[in-house]
Amino acid sequence: MDTERDRGRRWRPATRLVRGGAVRSPFGETSEALFLTSGFCYANAAEAAARFRGEAEGFVYSRYSNPTVRMFLDRLAALEEAEAASATASGMAAVSAALLAQVKAGDHVVAARALFGSCRYVLDELLPRFGVAVSLVDGTDLAQWRAALRPGTVCAFVETPANPTLELVDLRAVADLCHAVGARLIVDNVFATPLLQRPIRLGADIVVYSATKHIDGHGRCLGGAILGDAAFCEGILSPFLRHTGPSLSPFNAWVLLKGLETLAVRLDRQVRSSTELARFLCGLDGLRRVLYPGLADHPQHELATRQMSGFGTVVAFEIDGGQARAFRFLDGLRLIDISNNLGDAKSLITHPLSTTHQRLGAEECARLGIGAGLVRLSVGLEDVEDLKEDLQQALAAA
Ligand SMILES: *Cc1c(COP(=O)(O)O)cnc(C)c1O
Repeated sequence: MDTERDRGRRWRPATRLVRGGAVRSPFGETSEALFLTSGFCYANAAEAAARFRGEAEGFVYSRYSNPTVRMFLDRLAALEEAEAASATASGMAAVSAALLAQVKAGDHVVAARALFGSCRYVLDELLPRFGVAVSLVDGTDLAQWRAALRPGTVCAFVETPANPTLELVDLRAVADLCHAVGARLIVDNVFATPLLQRPIRLGADIVVYSATKHIDGHGRCLGGAILGDAAFCEGILSPFLRHTGPSLSPFNAWVLLKGLETLAVRLDRQVRSSTELARFLCGLDGLRRVLYPGLADHPQHELATRQMSGFGTVVAFEIDGGQARAFRFLDGLRLIDISNNLGDAKSLITHPLSTTHQRLGAEECARLGIGAGLVRLSVGLEDVEDLKEDLQQALAAA
């Protein structure tokens, strides 16, 4: 007989988002049940012992797993076509666990330089503190990848499109280079979402998400997930997570399950609006450049077309006049909120140099293309005409 899991994988992605992983209790509830419990009871002492030995089916403790968390993971794993998945309390818990679970002193890790600020902290500060050598490369340059990867490289870490410059990494090519030296490729797929880019199909070994972003999609809670093959997830990652405990709360898992149900329709609208806004911004005065992988003048537009089925919901643009004018522009917006989150139903805008990437300093930011005038817009579900009017009036006033 099919398991629930196998059943989920026969459906198309939009159906998997609504039905995948759902398991009904004997009450026959329509919506997935919220099992807000830390522990589970056993019929007898022998059964408790068997579950602890891993010889009997069933939940043990919500730090390990929980029925609502399981439904969220099975839904996401069905979508991603991953063998296994683990949930974490935030995206950063997913990133740090995916790295820390597999390295030891003396190991080597390679990462693309263009990353979310906190991911850079883990690579720049945390791993070296434990004796792990980290090489940073320009993720777009395959020659640098070839030079940096070596026997003894345990894993590589990339984000594509990258935050906030929307620079792309060729996943198929980098996965092949990693595998040639026996390294695993970890992809932070937040900007693309599980619907617009399929890293595992492109050769990646591990995919991490901040579910806080599009998967929740309404700015309600934090969450994260790590997906990959069973040998890594069950053999290496799972013991690390069980004993360090960055577990996802069942309540947040339930919120994220509901978020997945509407992901396809939200993304459809948000990607369309992002494309329209990117084109609209190109026609406005006072902007130095507009960055969106869907624009024909994006330096990696051809790669984006090959490796993504949609170009995402974030548009970055550089305002003439540096930080002072960028701040006046942000302060002049009446509809779009100044906030560092993204993937929300509400359109949100941030100035990366002074917020998410502040820790890197102006010099490293300049190297990454994060100038004083750069702003990052996460496009929400509002009417795109209202968004255009707001951007235009704030730019004129700045
Ligand atoms: C937000 C984000 C993270 C971290 O996620 P949290 O849920 O905020 O911990 C990691 N990577 C990328 C690309 C992000 O945008």
